[in-house]
Amino acid sequence: MRKEFLPFSTPTIGDDEINEVVDSLKSGWITTGPKVKRFEDDFKAYVGAKYAVPLSSATAGLHLTLLALRLKEGDEVITTPMTFASTVSMVILCGATPVLVDIEPGTLNIDAAAIRAKITPNTRAIIPVHFAGQPCDMDAIFALAKEFNLTVIEDAAHAAGTEYKGEKIGSLDSISIFSFHPNKNITTGEGGMVCTPDETLAEEISLLKFHGMSREAWKRFSATGNPNYEILLPGFKYNMMDIQAALGIHQLPKLDGFIAKRTEIAEFYNAAFADVAELARPAYAGYEQRHAWHLYTPLVRVEQLSIDRDQFMAELKKLNIGSGLHYKAIHHHPYYREALSIKTGDLPNADYASDRILSLPLFPKMTMDDASDVVEAVKDVIARNRK
Ligand SMILES: *Cc1c(COP(=O)(O)O)cnc(C)c1O
Repeated sequence: MRKEFLPFSTPTIGDDEINEVVDSLKSGWITTGPKVKRFEDDFKAYVGAKYAVPLSSATAGLHLTLLALRLKEGDEVITTPMTFASTVSMVILCGATPVLVDIEPGTLNIDAAAIRAKITPNTRAIIPVHFAGQPCDMDAIFALAKEFNLTVIEDAAHAAGTEYKGEKIGSLDSISIFSFHPNKNITTGEGGMVCTPDETLAEEISLLKFHGMSREAWKRFSATGNPNYEILLPGFKYNMMDIQAALGIHQLPKLDGFIAKRTEIAEFYNAAFADVAELARPAYAGYEQRHAWHLYTPLVRVEQLSIDRDQFMAELKKLNIGSGLHYKAIHHHPYYREALSIKTGDLPNADYASDRILSLPLFPKMTMDDASDVVEAVKDVIARNRK
C-alpha cells in the first residue's frame, strides 16, 4: 500500500508563476492591470477567440453572459444534469428555468439527439458542458440553435485546450466560458474567461464585470489613465487581479504539455482497466477531437459489488488514494430535486452515472508509479468486494 496520500488533483505551479506573483506584489500593481491584459491577449491567441474577457471565475462568466441575454421569467435554458452546480444556479439566479436533458451513456456529455424534444417556444439558450474535457457534439447543437434561434453558451470549464474537429474550444461561433480554479487544467488560483466573436456581448460583459466602468477604467490610477471614470451601467465586482493573471501567463504555455501528461495517464488507466468488468471506462466520442482529459471518470458497476460508490471511494481512501465526485447529478441535490420537479426515470443515463461515477487521480505532476498505485488499489477494492 502507498505510504503517502495521493490526492485526486493538485495544481502544478513552477518558479515562473511564483516569481511573477512576487513581481506583481513588489510592483505595487496587485489588482487588474497589465498582467491581466497580457493573459487576456495570450489566452485569446491560444484558443483563437476574437474577444476574451478575464473574470474572477467561470461562475461570474456564466452569470454575466446569462444577464446579457436579458432572460425573463418563464424563459428556458437547456443544459445537462452532469455538471457543477453553478451552470444551473446562474440560470435560476437570472430568473429563468433550467431544463435538463439526459446525457450520452459513454461520453457523459449532453445527448444532442435528445435536446430537440425539450425545446419549447420559451427556450432561449443551450449550455453544453464539455464533460471531463471532451467536446460535445457541437455540429448537432449548432444546427438546433440555428433552427430554433437559440444562443449557445459552452461551459468550457473543463475544456482549456480541447479541440472539436480541428478547432479549439473558445474559437467557435458561440460564447465559451473557461475556469481557472486550482483543479482545472490551468489555474490562476480562482479565475475565468469568456470568449466570443460577438463584440457587443464582449463589451457588455466587460462593463458588467467592473461596476459598469468603461473598458480602460483599470488604467485610471496609472500615468496614461484618467481618474475621472464614468459609470455606464450598474455592474458587479467580477474582475481578475494581476496576481491571478501572473499565474495564468506562465500556466498557459504549459497547457499543451499538461494535456499530453494527462492523456498519457488516462490512456494508461484505460489499458489497465480494459479487463476489469466491474469498471466502465470513459468512452471517446466518434468525431475528430482533442480530449483535454481534465477528469478520468469511470463508472463503478455497483450491482456486481457488495459496496456502493461512496463506500468504494472510502475504501480507496483507506489505501491512500484520493478520488473526486464529478458529479452527483444536478437533480439529485436537495434544492434542484425540489426546484426542477424531475421525475424518477426522466433522466435515466444521468441517474445511472450519478450513482456510479468517481474521478480517479489525474494531474500532470503524477508519476507512472502513482498511476500504478491507483490501478492496484482499484483492483484490490474490487477483488475484496465482489458479490
Ligand atoms: C469548475 C466549474 C465551474 C465553475 O467554475 P469556477 O471558476 O469555479 O466558477 C462551472 N462549470 C463546470 C462544469 C465546472 O467544472
